[in-house]
Amino acid sequence: MSPSEFSGAVLEWFDRHGRHDLPWQADKSAYHTWISEIMLQQTQVATVIPYFQRFIARFPDVHTLADAELDEVLHLWTGLGYYARARNLHKTAQLVSQQRQGVFPDSVEEMEQLPGIGRSTAGAILAISSGRRAAILDGNVKRVLARFYAVDGWAGLPAVSRELWNHAERNTPLDRVGDYTQAMMDLGATLCTRSRPKCLLCPLQMQCKALARNLTDKLPAPKPKKVLPVKATQMLIIRDDSNRILLHQRPPSGIWGGLWSLPELPDLRDADTQFGFDIVDAQPMAPLRHTFSHYHLDITPVLVRLSAANNPANCVMEGAPTLWYNVRQPQNIGLAAPVKRLLEQLGAADSNSR
Ligand code: SF4
Repeated sequence: MSPSEFSGAVLEWFDRHGRHDLPWQADKSAYHTWISEIMLQQTQVATVIPYFQRFIARFPDVHTLADAELDEVLHLWTGLGYYARARNLHKTAQLVSQQRQGVFPDSVEEMEQLPGIGRSTAGAILAISSGRRAAILDGNVKRVLARFYAVDGWAGLPAVSRELWNHAERNTPLDRVGDYTQAMMDLGATLCTRSRPKCLLCPLQMQCKALARNLTDKLPAPKPKKVLPVKATQMLIIRDDSNRILLHQRPPSGIWGGLWSLPELPDLRDADTQFGFDIVDAQPMAPLRHTFSHYHLDITPVLVRLSAANNPANCVMEGAPTLWYNVRQPQNIGLAAPVKRLLEQLGAADSNSR
């Protein structure tokens, strides 16, 4: 199949069956496309839609986003995961607003210099927002191309990645490049799905090598498996006289960077040396597991009572901003996802006990 036959078949399918009413398709500016592409990394369309709508309602342009507090950006991101994306979004908005008068670059090479924007995302933003011929290779497109051309090997390996990029570059058309980009993403998301692809409906079925060789469940080759290690922590739930809960802000980089969380203490006997208070009673709650890309974290929340000598209002956590959080009147702050869940549970329990 020649590149023009490939793109022609994909575009014809897109005109009839592609998605044409996604919220970011109403205004294909670089700003809207960039926000949607970053949100869609690692996240499905149905999950992204309400986040995108809330985000754009609050930050309608790159200058508003640049001027916002990072905390508010993180708050609107809470639940989407991979928070480095939100921090990079904020940094990029500031660069584009302050150094480029709000105008995004018009080449892949320059776009890739911005925080959080890789080659594929840069290509998607340019193709969709300005019709510039630029290839993409996100997870969906990798799957389609790996199957169509029967490319074996994990896409994280440089040689495999190079081969897939070559296919992606060659097939990208000059005309209707924005539609083609959207079409390839749609094809991967709706037909050429991870399991049980709907090959009978696929416009590429006649020439698809994986289908012809019965390899659709073998390709693309998965990442070599590694067992995730398990780490454990205890999160302290310390209340003041008004029943508010003590939170502290995590350092700007690292896990949950810049988000608000509960104080953590692996060994409660260290409370005095770590935080300067004594714990006289500790009631562990049901544990919960949070899985990061590189490990599982088993969290045991512990309801703690401090000794009479310790006024909770004086609790200080060295070097970290703290605040008292009212679970009945949640504030607009960025919370670590499991902490948010926990605070919601505590809020619901508080309401039931009233
Ligand atoms: S024929 Fe099947 S495996 Fe091949 S590209 Fe289409 S959906 Fe994917």
